[in-house]
Amino acid sequence: MRLSWLLTATLLLTCMAMPLASQESKTTSNSVVNSLDKSADPCVDFYQFACGGWMKNNPIPADHPIWSRFGELAERNRAVLRTILENAAKATNRSANEQKIGDYYASCVDEDSINKKGIAVLKPEFDRIAGLKDKAGLPALLAHVHGEGIDALFNFYSGADFKNAKEVIAQADQGGLSLPDRDYYLKDDPKSVELRKAFSVHVANTFKLLGDAPDKATAEAKTVMDIETALAKGSMDRVERREPEKIYHKLSQQDWQALSPSFSFARYLSDLGTPTFTSLNVASPDFFKAFDAELKTVTLDDLKTYLRWHLVRSQVQALPKAFVDENFNFYEKTLQGTKELQARWKRCVAAADGDLGEALGQVFVEKYYPPEAKDRTLKMVNQLEAALHQDISELPWMSDTTKKQALVKLAAIRNKIGYPAKWRDYSTLKIERGDALGNSLRANAFENHRQLAKIGKPLDKQEWQMTPPTVNAYYDPTENGINFPAGILQPPFYDFKADDALNFGGMGAVIGHELTHGFDDQGALFDPEGNLKNWWTPEDEKAFKERTQCIVDEYDQFVAVDDVHVRGKLTLGENTADNGGLRIAHMALMKSLADAGKQAEKIDGFTPEQRFFIGWGQIWCQNQTDEMARLLAQNNEHSPGKYRANGVVQNMPEFQKAWGCKTGQPMVRANACHVW
Ligand SMILES: [Zn+2]
Repeated sequence: MRLSWLLTATLLLTCMAMPLASQESKTTSNSVVNSLDKSADPCVDFYQFACGGWMKNNPIPADHPIWSRFGELAERNRAVLRTILENAAKATNRSANEQKIGDYYASCVDEDSINKKGIAVLKPEFDRIAGLKDKAGLPALLAHVHGEGIDALFNFYSGADFKNAKEVIAQADQGGLSLPDRDYYLKDDPKSVELRKAFSVHVANTFKLLGDAPDKATAEAKTVMDIETALAKGSMDRVERREPEKIYHKLSQQDWQALSPSFSFARYLSDLGTPTFTSLNVASPDFFKAFDAELKTVTLDDLKTYLRWHLVRSQVQALPKAFVDENFNFYEKTLQGTKELQARWKRCVAAADGDLGEALGQVFVEKYYPPEAKDRTLKMVNQLEAALHQDISELPWMSDTTKKQALVKLAAIRNKIGYPAKWRDYSTLKIERGDALGNSLRANAFENHRQLAKIGKPLDKQEWQMTPPTVNAYYDPTENGINFPAGILQPPFYDFKADDALNFGGMGAVIGHELTHGFDDQGALFDPEGNLKNWWTPEDEKAFKERTQCIVDEYDQFVAVDDVHVRGKLTLGENTADNGGLRIAHMALMKSLADAGKQAEKIDGFTPEQRFFIGWGQIWCQNQTDEMARLLAQNNEHSPGKYRANGVVQNMPEFQKAWGCKTGQPMVRANACHVW
């Protein structure tokens, strides 16, 4: 899925689309107890205690690089979406949306036809690239390529203006890389060198599959690597990009043009068909200088090679099996440690969710998301907001002046639950049975056009950036809104049959996490209306930074795999949200238990507070390959499951009291961090 927004904070690894579970309860008392490792001491390694049983009983399936409670939910229920799609594929008298999702899916799973058609399907696209006569023709060609959703050379999209969040503006940004981050091109450690070698072999193999001679294919792979390395050198680092001021540079179109004199943005924009505008955000101006320098020196043939590569790479799913296997070998096997390619139907469910998510999601919601699920979520959101209100009011380190502002921001947070109030209209998107590649390209073009048409318009706060079946959640600082797709209100996050303690440790903490994002190191820079505007007194800002630095230092010490540490600065926002989220979920639970007079009710031998922490620990149970652990530690803003569990409880006297932990034990941090 393309990221069209700059700073949205999510709950999970990535915006991987994950289908929803059936409504049958899975968080039985048994499953909670069986997931424990009772031989572990909760005060020494709480994650091992909460998840040891689960980790032992749930090895990573061959077709996954990581296996988690999220993954379990997704896998159990991918079948639900599969049924919806298969029914839509064979039904008669279909609605317009059923025709689209059914024919899209049927075309995607029809591997025989895709194999038979071969690479001929790409001929019109290849011809267009081959027809590039000079560099002056590049803007028009790139507009076409970008219009089909293919990432090449740079990114251009739309998004809220950080300093006038009511309005959507054009955004130009770095892009055009095939490896997960610019660091992969620039680092010289043995792992990075080895990966680059494997990547070059993969690119060469792909060109060979296209029919190029081995020598030529090897030279082409070098071309791709050279161009991408030049772009990587001009790109900003992930940690730097977390600072909103560093990715906000409002320029006139002329000033943008001045950064890259060799490329006509006016021609590019007119071919792309964007609404006219006078200024835009150029997130990374230095990148556009590097882009221009590269454009001046690169040959026309090398540019064509680079574009051919990106075309094939982006549409690999609609190409014959040999391409799919080659892609798997590098991106999943080498990079992530996955042993086997996922079954075709699983990949096609994910593709349908990505391309037609609100058409598929609409059926899903009708069948599997009862109104009471929405009511329950809303009730919990209200309880968590009340807890955060109390937490802010009682903060020892913040002045009344800033507290007042923080409470105004809290009151302004918009809650979106389940699914959009208004469904996306796909009527102009043509989906044809038997045309997998065409469907994918047209769906990309539809989405690209939809995004760019927003330029100059008011920000639509009703819109969703995740599809309804997604098992995830997010906070958007420019909307000042929290969003919980229907997919997440399921066990182990929320179980209609479970006690409050478990549900507050799961869904309660998830809601707390998203609310706290409004006040993490990024969120705190945005005002109640979503504008990048300081509402802090200087003293309070200083105290806040000291406290978030404590979190940076804490997580910097954690080892993800081998010698690779968690990156404290990269994961700061998420870790702050985890810490604040669990603390306010605990406050909300205490109130709820007191109201119900259930403070002392033990289940399976555990007090409600102990079950609350078990609920928290168990949503993070996971097993992952070493390759995946390395990949995520380098690039992902979320800490590994182990530290999402342990990193938080170490900071909580409430945890230590609940389990009787003593000073000096590992789950009792000497310099406990406390922001929210
Ligand atoms: Zn988050």
